Amino acid sequence: ESPYGRSLKDCRMKPEQKIAKSDCDDNIGYFIKKKLHVWCRLPGGLWELGTIQSTSGDAALVSVSSGNVIKVCRVDLLPANPNVLEGVDDLIQLSYLNEPSVLYNLQCRYSQDMIYSKAGPVLIAINPFKDVQIYGEDFVTTYRRKLTDKPHVYAVADAAYDEMMADDVNQSIIISGESGAGKTETAKVAMQYLADLGSGSCGTEHANAILQTNCILEAFGNAKTCRNHNASRFSRVTQLQNGERSYHVFYQLCAGAPSTLKERLNLKRASEYKYLNQSDCLEIDGVDDARKFHMLMEALDVVRVCKEDQEHAFSLLAAVLWLGNISFQSIDNENHVEVLADEAVTIAAMLMGCSSQELILSLSTPEIHGSKDSIVKRLTLRQAVDARDALAKFIYVSLFDWLVEQINKSLAVGKCRTGRSISILDIHGFESFQKNSFEQMCINYANERLQQHFNRHLFKLEQEECELDGVDWTKVDFQDNRECLNLFEKKPFGLLSLLDEELNFPKANDLTLANKFKQHLNANSCFKAEKASSFSICHLAGEVLYDTSGFLDKNRDKLPSIFFQLLSSCSCRLLQLFTSKEFKQFQKPENYSCQMNALDPSKSSAGIEFKGQLFKLMHQLESSKPHFISCIKPNSKQLPGMYEVNLVLQQLRCCGVLEVVRISRSGYPTRMTHQEFAGRYGFLLLEDDLPQDPLSLSIAILKRFSVLPEMYQIGYTKVFLRTGQIASLEDKRKKVL
Ligand code: ADP
Ligand code: MG
Repeated sequence: ESPYGRSLKDCRMKPEQKIAKSDCDDNIGYFIKKKLHVWCRLPGGLWELGTIQSTSGDAALVSVSSGNVIKVCRVDLLPANPNVLEGVDDLIQLSYLNEPSVLYNLQCRYSQDMIYSKAGPVLIAINPFKDVQIYGEDFVTTYRRKLTDKPHVYAVADAAYDEMMADDVNQSIIISGESGAGKTETAKVAMQYLADLGSGSCGTEHANAILQTNCILEAFGNAKTCRNHNASRFSRVTQLQNGERSYHVFYQLCAGAPSTLKERLNLKRASEYKYLNQSDCLEIDGVDDARKFHMLMEALDVVRVCKEDQEHAFSLLAAVLWLGNISFQSIDNENHVEVLADEAVTIAAMLMGCSSQELILSLSTPEIHGSKDSIVKRLTLRQAVDARDALAKFIYVSLFDWLVEQINKSLAVGKCRTGRSISILDIHGFESFQKNSFEQMCINYANERLQQHFNRHLFKLEQEECELDGVDWTKVDFQDNRECLNLFEKKPFGLLSLLDEELNFPKANDLTLANKFKQHLNANSCFKAEKASSFSICHLAGEVLYDTSGFLDKNRDKLPSIFFQLLSSCSCRLLQLFTSKEFKQFQKPENYSCQMNALDPSKSSAGIEFKGQLFKLMHQLESSKPHFISCIKPNSKQLPGMYEVNLVLQQLRCCGVLEVVRISRSGYPTRMTHQEFAGRYGFLLLEDDLPQDPLSLSIAILKRFSVLPEMYQIGYTKVFLRTGQIASLEDKRKKVL
């Protein structure tokens, strides 16, 4: 079992290169004769290095490093790279780009603290889970002066900066990876580098302000989860899993607020609040929440959020906590409840700027889905709790959006306007758990879009290089994920449209939704009907099983209109703002707000909103030059020095690194100028009347060694070779030397 609970099936990857035929003319016999290394797939999926002793039929006897000889099926053998290629900087340099070779190469580097590697144009960053001495002023200078070509985030940021200045084009650094892989840290490293460069032209103060935003965004946007003690999260205000925390800022506020502020907000210890004390986890080892609160206040000053607004923001945080403490009492035998008018109600109302009566009334008014009648019914406990939580979440989400807006406004003042930008995108990678719900579907959909962006870009780079050199590009085959995107986006029969349509049926439930999907989506090859309320999607990264339970509620995502009325009448300035038209407007993606009325919550759905934001993001990315960083989590224990092969492999598949490898493999990964090629192998030609120009020499070499025509192409300046070709030429060269 993989740590994901359910292992990803690799549904798109082309069959691995086999030793037989494709790589060596005289196949396995050649490996035996040369005592070349091979990878053997062991039962359980791990790989071991060995040398083939003999073969019989479909099996081979392989001696492995322990000295044992094992019997391995031919299909479980893959060629390994020659020792000289051990630990190369760029995976593309490997003669054999199969999975074990890639994994081993990265492991070899990781064990020497070389956490950065390249896969062609992509930077791979493996989380060290310890301080590695590769950052700071000296390293910044080294990369700025281009004194090294070792892979590093600094090199990526540096290239983005140079290209922005030289080409006058916006740049984006796209960082992906799963939770705990190191995305946010990597983003910070890139920001630090750019701030250092920028402080020259924009002033240290401005650069510092940009860096300080991290502190604010982390306080409000990050939380401790089981997989990362500083995970960037989106919704976890009201419900927590054991061992996890809500957003840092709540604990920081409770621990660090000065006593006068505590008094004004009626603040208690974190352990007194139900939203915080439900998960048995209030502190993080080695983290001082009180100190963090002081840093937060300083950062808010730096980005010029005025004291009055800071006080409003803290009041609303306290209001959210007090809302969570509001409880309900039973009033009949049918599980109907009413709000208990205790101190939680009084204080929450006071912090929001309304009367207790108004708050109680709003919390007691049922919202009737799919019906315009306003028959007043009593609320059940579940409905009452959901309504209260929806209000708390709305306040928190709005507060977060407002803060981001404040930060952006503040940074826009006085900045040096070249009109060009570098965007850093820190986005969650593909997810596949034992149970996958609406959230996983959204994040996987976003990744599918990003992957398309990535493939297109990569494809374009390859194409440009080939075409520039007069090489026939059509021979490089390329598979895209159009079909999977259609599954989500098609109208009216795509996942998102069908999901929205189902919201209109008052009697809809998880099962009717699943059936609807099965009825309309079966024709799409990326969709698979599963039992009961489940279905699977064949993502680029693998197959993921989803369960529709909760989909409808999560997609509804609407704040009952009674709360809109309540908040707009509150005396708290921020709450009035959150319900105003202007505020909603800036949150909505452009060219999207016109399609729907932002103030008519019944027309909005989480799915549509997500798609709108995603399109806006894609639009921004498409008008910039991308740089890709894939972060990898080497183990699930957050420990240094531990490399779990299967975990890494899953991620390499998910984040598209093996896709790069695949594209390269289907193309011509080895490129050498005719000079280089002729210089290296020309002496192998023994004929007298050799051609003088490098291009003709290259052709003569290829002919002399009977390299098959489909294995190479001759460009104007370079030889383009398929995978494995250079290894066999090297071998011939060695024999002569
Ligand atoms: P993600 O954003 O991908 O969920 P984070 O960036 O928050 O992951 O990283 C998780 C943890 O891993 C960090 O809190 C830090 O302890 C460690 N970490 C990540 N990248 C590095 C790095 N380059 N050097 C040292 N530690 C790191
Ligand atoms: Mg993060």
